[in-house]
Amino acid sequence: MPTKNPTFVTRAEAQLLKAMIWLANVKIRSTTQVEERCAREMVMAGYIATEDDFKTIKPHEVDRFREDQEELRAWLVKIAEPKEGDRAALVGEVNDFLKRKVPVAVRGDDGQRRFGPVINGLEAIYGYGVALLLDDERGLGTRLARCKAPNCGRFFLDLHPKGRPQQFCSDDHRMHYHAAKRKEERAKRMNK
Ligand SMILES: [Zn+2]
Repeated sequence: MPTKNPTFVTRAEAQLLKAMIWLANVKIRSTTQVEERCAREMVMAGYIATEDDFKTIKPHEVDRFREDQEELRAWLVKIAEPKEGDRAALVGEVNDFLKRKVPVAVRGDDGQRRFGPVINGLEAIYGYGVALLLDDERGLGTRLARCKAPNCGRFFLDLHPKGRPQQFCSDDHRMHYHAAKRKEERAKRMNK
């Protein structure tokens, strides 16, 4: 069911964005943990035909995925909490990345052919996902937020906004944040 929604994404793009946010937040334990979930989601979204089309790496190379995750998080911070010039610099970086990591192709059989990106690996997921967030026409750039609780920083992407975007993971993190704030203010008053 289409909903009244100021953002614009296709069903497949919504699924890709969901996988990207999962990737940004997950505690990476193994390569298969990441590959299996991402491959399944990209098949469901129609970006690849079978899970075997998804690029995999050797289990002992899991740190490569952690580095990818670091890169993704750094990019998302530039969108969620942009400083002067961040967005423009990010556009250059992402364009360069897209050229190298996200092929486009016409796929499928007679009568079912579709043109679009081939999302066949982790880098393709977040390169394409971040590019979608940078597309002003889609209105997604302001729907990305991070939990404000100390030591959290979990990312949220709200595709069906009702009012203000989410600011905390949970009531618990909301309380942690306000407690930390009160402590900070007390300390400030003591130092006067
Ligand atoms: Zn949190």
